Amino acid sequence: MKYISTRGQAPKLDFEEVLLTGLAEDGGLYLPETWPQITEEKMKAWAKLSYADLAAEVMEPFVSECIDKKTLTELCHKAYGRFRHEAVTPLKQLDSQVWLQELFQGPTLAFKDCALQMLGLFFEHTLAKKKSSITIIGATSGDTGSAAIEACRDREGIEIFILFPDGKVSDVQRRQMTTVDSPNVHCVAVDGTFDDCQDLVKACFNDHEFRNKISLSAVNSINWARIMAQIVYYFYSALRLGAPEREVQFAVPTGNFGNVFAGYAAQKMGLPISKFLVGSNRNDILTRFFNANDMSIKTVEPSLSPSMDIQISSNFERFLYFCLDENPKALTDAMTAFRKDGKLPLSNAAFTKATECFEGFSLDDEGILAEIARVYTENQELIDPHTAASTAHAKVSGNKQNLTTIVLATAHPAKFSEAVKMASGVTPKLPPHLSHIFSIPENYKLSPNDLSMLQTFVMSEGAATYS
Ligand SMILES: *Cc1c(COP(=O)(O)O)cnc(C)c1O
Repeated sequence: MKYISTRGQAPKLDFEEVLLTGLAEDGGLYLPETWPQITEEKMKAWAKLSYADLAAEVMEPFVSECIDKKTLTELCHKAYGRFRHEAVTPLKQLDSQVWLQELFQGPTLAFKDCALQMLGLFFEHTLAKKKSSITIIGATSGDTGSAAIEACRDREGIEIFILFPDGKVSDVQRRQMTTVDSPNVHCVAVDGTFDDCQDLVKACFNDHEFRNKISLSAVNSINWARIMAQIVYYFYSALRLGAPEREVQFAVPTGNFGNVFAGYAAQKMGLPISKFLVGSNRNDILTRFFNANDMSIKTVEPSLSPSMDIQISSNFERFLYFCLDENPKALTDAMTAFRKDGKLPLSNAAFTKATECFEGFSLDDEGILAEIARVYTENQELIDPHTAASTAHAKVSGNKQNLTTIVLATAHPAKFSEAVKMASGVTPKLPPHLSHIFSIPENYKLSPNDLSMLQTFVMSEGAATYS
């Protein structure tokens, strides 16, 4: 399998090159050149597999040029063996049509673990083979940082630096990062906002001399390997709930569009998914788009579901590429206009394609709290403020079609305990493996919002690897 850029101007790469590159040279995102087609017969056989074995089957055609099946299967067992539930992404039935798929059974309690646990192992395997090493510098507003750290800690050939805005992440989120005691993990609290952290990371990538010197790499969701690993849980739940004979639909709490794009990829591979319900919070650009072809940028407003506080969804470009009939020129023009004018110009024909099987929905903070309370009252189930947008969406959209609806639960309620307590009156408990984080020392560096000081720090801490 080779990979092509959405913008059509970057070289075709194989899986390992795509893994280490992240963003394409032409500014586009990498996509597989073709979609592997899974027959009904094969899907029926897959329905019996464990999560880890299914993961190896689903990912094999995407990586087979670079990683053999036996090695891939071992990596899958290693990654998903760390999850707290034997089913890895267990299902809970909420009513006659709606199921919750818990994607938060990994080490850091958010669905990011499902992909990042694999990504860390893919990095380690590939770097050992190439006898090289990388430096990862990432910015986080909360969930991605700890998931990336857990995925990369103690791995050979990787130094990881995570920047977070000082005082602007929750105590649980900060301690999940800063209590990790590994020599290759470096947490930096920046005196600034999340945007300042992101700008520092971008500046590191744009400083080509620095970038090459430290072999800079990315763990955000523009990395194809993350999307690929997320395809697996769509197959897992759909096959257990009656696919391929019966169609299902998915309700997905959405920010950067990476999660729901993985579902679209599963559909392209032949999984019968009739609809994607795209859930948002008060930052409703995707809802305005799917309802009325209005994708225009407004300012980001903080909400109770911070991982969805986004105006520009970086993975939307991958979806748009298909709405524009896989035409890289049309895609490049549309993205350039979007960046310049803050509004995406899209023809009726392309918009019709986009809405064929996608539907938007958003909930403001008040709606989120009411929904958490509703689900608790009706099901005695605590859900987090991100998942709430999608359970509400499933309620209004799912039942009228009498379809099996799977709501992806993207975070453990204890990660957002204040909002959950406010809504339900109950404080969700942290799983036992995290209860110690409030009693052990934290280790992080305070840094001004200054590029050259950050670069000096990275060089001094990463010196062991690059001397
Ligand atoms: C990252 C995240 C999301 C958004 O996922 P995308 O792939 O960016 O759309 C939703 N919920 C939670 C809890 C997250 O951490």
